[in-house]
Amino acid sequence: MVKSDSYGSIKTILSDIVDNVMNRISIAAEGPSLSSTAASSCHGGDSASTDVSLIGNPIQSNRGRKRRREDAWKCNIAKARRNVGKDYVSKKGKHVRERKVKAGCGIVCRRKCHSVINQGERQHLFHRFWQLGCVDKQREYLNGVVIERKKKVTKVGETSRRKRTYQWHFKNSKGTFEVCKKFFGTR
Ligand SMILES: [Zn+2]
Repeated sequence: MVKSDSYGSIKTILSDIVDNVMNRISIAAEGPSLSSTAASSCHGGDSASTDVSLIGNPIQSNRGRKRRREDAWKCNIAKARRNVGKDYVSKKGKHVRERKVKAGCGIVCRRKCHSVINQGERQHLFHRFWQLGCVDKQREYLNGVVIERKKKVTKVGETSRRKRTYQWHFKNSKGTFEVCKKFFGTR
């Protein structure tokens, strides 16, 4: 459990949520639109415009096309489910579990996050985030609540593996509150 400065003990700065969103952003960057992204990420850049009926057996071509359509369809389904935090089957066939609100930091947290944002509000914010259902909107949301701070100046000769520091916030009807990473994230 968190005993002292929760930020100081964090080596991996971004939470599962941020990692997940960032991963998807890098995937999305491969293509200009959602549909073409799905196609390119599923088929490794196969040219959709290639008319295989001109160069091969028509029966095989139809099968090939059908398989590609099925793959693209499965890929789109998985993507849609992933974007809203539901369980899905990855491209490698791995079953990825549904996103759930984790326990958080508990009473030992020095920020007392649970007394600032109650569990119901936390649940609500979690669902609101996943209901955005779109990487861009989720990124926009995170940009508003996860703020990067400049690294504190270290003494001469002191070495630190810590490169970035983040502040995590939750917003509710009463305002914006800084919380610890454990409370904010999914770990
Ligand atoms: Zn906390």
